[in-house]
Amino acid sequence: MTAAAAARLILRNLLEVMASREPPQDKLDRVVRIVAENLDSEVCSLYLLRDGMLELFATRGLNQSAVHVTRMAVGEGLTGTIAESGETLNLAQARAHVNFQYRPETGEDKFHSFAGVPVIHRERTVGVLCVQHVDPRRYEDVEIEALQTTAMVLSELIASAGFVDGEEAAGAERHAAPEVLGGLVLVKGLASGQVVFHQPRVTIHQLVAEDVEAERQRVYRAFARMREQIEQMTSQVEFGTGGEHDEVLETYKMFAYDEGWSRRINEAIDSGLTAEAAIERVQQRTRMRMREIDDPLLADRMHDLEDLSNRLLRIVSGQLGTAATQGLRQDTILVARNLGPAELLEYDRRRLKGVVLEEGSLTAHVVIVARAMSIPVIGRLGGMRGRVADGDEILLDGNKGTVTLRPSPAMREAFEVKNAAYRERQASYALLRDVEPFTRDGTRIEVMMNAGLRDDISNLALTGADGIGLFRTEFQFLVSATLPQRERQTRLYRDVLDAAGDKPVVFRTVDIGGDKAVPYLRSDALRDEENPALGWRALRLALERDGLLKVQARALLDAAAGRTLNVMFPMVSEPWEFDAARAVFEEQLAHIRARRRRLPEAVRYGVMLEVPALAEVLDQLLPRIAFISVGTNDLTQFLFAADRANPKLAERYDWLSPAILRFLARVVGSMRGYPVDLTVCGEMGGRRLEALALLGLGITRLSITPAAIGPVKELVRKVNLTELQPQMQRWLADPPKDMRTALGAWALAHDIEAE
Ligand code: PEP
Ligand code: MG
Repeated sequence: MTAAAAARLILRNLLEVMASREPPQDKLDRVVRIVAENLDSEVCSLYLLRDGMLELFATRGLNQSAVHVTRMAVGEGLTGTIAESGETLNLAQARAHVNFQYRPETGEDKFHSFAGVPVIHRERTVGVLCVQHVDPRRYEDVEIEALQTTAMVLSELIASAGFVDGEEAAGAERHAAPEVLGGLVLVKGLASGQVVFHQPRVTIHQLVAEDVEAERQRVYRAFARMREQIEQMTSQVEFGTGGEHDEVLETYKMFAYDEGWSRRINEAIDSGLTAEAAIERVQQRTRMRMREIDDPLLADRMHDLEDLSNRLLRIVSGQLGTAATQGLRQDTILVARNLGPAELLEYDRRRLKGVVLEEGSLTAHVVIVARAMSIPVIGRLGGMRGRVADGDEILLDGNKGTVTLRPSPAMREAFEVKNAAYRERQASYALLRDVEPFTRDGTRIEVMMNAGLRDDISNLALTGADGIGLFRTEFQFLVSATLPQRERQTRLYRDVLDAAGDKPVVFRTVDIGGDKAVPYLRSDALRDEENPALGWRALRLALERDGLLKVQARALLDAAAGRTLNVMFPMVSEPWEFDAARAVFEEQLAHIRARRRRLPEAVRYGVMLEVPALAEVLDQLLPRIAFISVGTNDLTQFLFAADRANPKLAERYDWLSPAILRFLARVVGSMRGYPVDLTVCGEMGGRRLEALALLGLGITRLSITPAAIGPVKELVRKVNLTELQPQMQRWLADPPKDMRTALGAWALAHDIEAE
């Protein structure tokens, strides 16, 4: 009989045992007998964890008097070693192993060979299943395979019969103990709640196959579907739905077509498992291998395989939704490898309290959206998903960049104290709502806010911002399943203008592409892009798809009837692009005029300065525009040639680097004498030390995330520009070794808190 056939027989018999009404002990006695007989083994024993100790629960071949008598600690003897490491042992000579221990009461001295596998339930070892022979022989791979498959099915039997509970599992201690992990602060703030996986774990209802051929067909179909999905994602890298990175997609592709992987799943099906159980079984093995890998690059790739395996599992089981669609917990802390902005927007923001990402970078759009939603985010916590379980309590300190898993009461208490202080500080910022931000020497700084969602509008009144310096119109496109109709666009823009009253609002025309996914706007032109961030995006796309820009122009002009419209074009690289975009608006204006409909009182045109080339030709453009807004997010990515969404580069370049500051100083200089407003609207301006540097460069208008308005206003009121600006000039001429340290020290000396 082949090993697969043996395993199938074992599983079929186990199924019978599971279904029978025998007392639990009798069931286990039958289990070891079935395994021993079918694997032709002289001994088969099952050890289970009880009160933290491994106890012999059933045996066929060892002395029956040892049952419930022989006990050993996790880590002790061969069985303890397997429980501790979660790995299989296959030994021709058991006594040759360093951890071998002899237990006389079992009568095992005559057996030489030994093979044991962990019994794992919900990623925790709950016991050990082993076989022994008199002959010193190494077990064949197929035998080990059969043993492992048996252990997997057995784990369900053991758990459902209540022999062990989750808390008793080996390694549970590691998982239950508090743990503090450090990551990168992406959005500030504090939050506590329970872990929810963005991609929920698939529940496997049936482990043993009734029809092996049918299961094989299910896996074939799932593989085909998964490959289709990967192909689709690769062909739309520009608009990748999960924020996946090229490299990850490449690896997905490699694994999706990897014959070894599909073969192993097929073998597991051969041994009698259902498609779901077979995928899970192979994944378990991968996880074990992952633990042994020291190379971070390889470990990353193994995570990719794990992701893909989960995808396959979701497809085959039909459990497709993300946590957003499955009834969210009250205080959810979302845990994901990465997210796309549209995916985050699907969540109920009243229940979503925080986000932890294994990847993530400061200026990725998902992070900008989270910032707009005032949801703290910590990123760069590699391997996070393996360290927590769904429902684990978690504290997220988005000021220090730490997460505390399963906190002790003392930790919880300390966190509450910190949270209270944080809230107090936030409340003190709220007091500044109606205070106009003047510097100590009397310069009025305009502190405006960035927005993009309808819900953001209320922040205008809450923060006392001077207006909306950047309204990202593409957010409406991101949250829609289809291209938003003109009427819907008009309604949103009108509501924003109504809420703003006398305060100015700067609408930026759609900026899609890069990491902003709009699945309904596909094009062949996007298929072959190697560098989407440098590709056909923002205004470049809008000018060619001018139907899209026309509709938006009309919607904006209609919404601003009788008022001033400030409209700004993203990613302008050369002045003609501005002219072309403006012409689209002028054409719509003429159209409205011809129909004798109400026009805006004035239309002010401006550009985003985010492509460095534009800075070199500003003199050409300045006479034609009313304002410029510097988008430091893209500007930094282009100045440093560093993908803003690439987590590996997240901490590499500092906004306070002399290169950026000198660049901005030059822009400020070239605008002197022109009646053109200059604003900085990238994420940089919302950080206190960075805002201080911008004031030092002579910038007096910032548009920032709502949560930063209070902190920046408070900072403005402490600054004396006549002291700061000459110092900044000196630093620009002769940069200190570390600008951040120098500026921080200067701030401290002037009684200004850096954070
Ligand atoms: C920027 O690039 O700095 C900017 C403000 O625009 P976005 O982040 O939407 O690209
Ligand atoms: Mg930009």
